[in-house]
Amino acid sequence: MSIAVRFQQVSRHYGAVRAVDDLNLEIAEGEFFALLGPSGSGKTTCLRLIAGFEQPTAGHIEIFGERAEGVPPYLRNVNTVFQDYALFPHLNVIDNVAFGLMVRGVDAKARRKQAEEALELVKLSGFGDRKPGQLSGGQRQRVALARALINRPKVLLLDEPLGALDLKLREQMQDELKSLQKSLNITFVFVTHDQGEALSMADRVAVFNHGKIMQAGTPEDIYQRPHSRFVADFVGSSNLLPPVLVKSVGGPERWASLRPEALSIAPEGQPERARGKVAALTYLGASVRIALDVGGERLTMVLPARGTLPAVGEDVPLHWDDDALHVMEDEK
Ligand code: ADP
Ligand code: MG
Repeated sequence: MSIAVRFQQVSRHYGAVRAVDDLNLEIAEGEFFALLGPSGSGKTTCLRLIAGFEQPTAGHIEIFGERAEGVPPYLRNVNTVFQDYALFPHLNVIDNVAFGLMVRGVDAKARRKQAEEALELVKLSGFGDRKPGQLSGGQRQRVALARALINRPKVLLLDEPLGALDLKLREQMQDELKSLQKSLNITFVFVTHDQGEALSMADRVAVFNHGKIMQAGTPEDIYQRPHSRFVADFVGSSNLLPPVLVKSVGGPERWASLRPEALSIAPEGQPERARGKVAALTYLGASVRIALDVGGERLTMVLPARGTLPAVGEDVPLHWDDDALHVMEDEK
């Protein structure tokens, strides 16, 4: 498998701001790769470096094995779907989608044909004569996607493309983007600050903080085996156990994470790992979230609402599987 994008110790500093800081990264051809992280963590800067709108202040970038330094954006075989779509309001949909072809001197008939094909890909056939102002947010998003796909780039960069859509539309577009990516076999580099979106869509995820990658791996790796408190915290509501507590339940004296759904009440007669005092119960519909005091720490357990539930104030024996307690490598 070839490497689509490689960062070798890449930095992009703006004065004292280290937007991207000594980053190493490899994205394989055909991968759906998500850059996940809080606002200001360097995700957009990374995309702009790949696109060629920014140059590294240190390090090297390769795109399909070739040094990207000095290669202008339009020669990179990379296209971008911008966060705000950046459509031209005075041009109709066809002309927006075919804009790049027009700049390159492709004749009007060929432009129209290719634009119509691109619109078909994003399920917007028949909308070619409308102006962006006559479209919904979701439709504008599709136009931006069609424009980016029209010349079949080898790498598509998407900067929080679904951020402006409401939840239902967002979920629909997540499914569509995913199947489009697989059917076109284009490498997607997808920026989001939404951990659920990254975990559900990507083949691999890189979690960013302060211009650095805290951890990169499959969604399962990131979710089940976070290396640091930052990743455990950012990726989902996990219990973080301090070293003293981990030691008291038979683990090493290190930080560890324990997912709320991995905790349960030990059946009678079964060995217990710890005891917890129920502090609060919150009904969530199909499940119940239970706050527990365990050795002075507040832990969360999630149980199915249909089972027998403990009462507030009750002292309960707790169970989890051997591999559920995950000791974090990067935390001392
Ligand atoms: P993200 O996309 O993860 O929100 P960005 O890559 O946009 O983060 O920004 C990372 C950091 O770099 C932020 O602190 C941001 O303010 C800073 N930054 C980005 N672009 C510039 C610029 N052109 N000039 C100065 N600082 C910038
Ligand atoms: Mg951004």
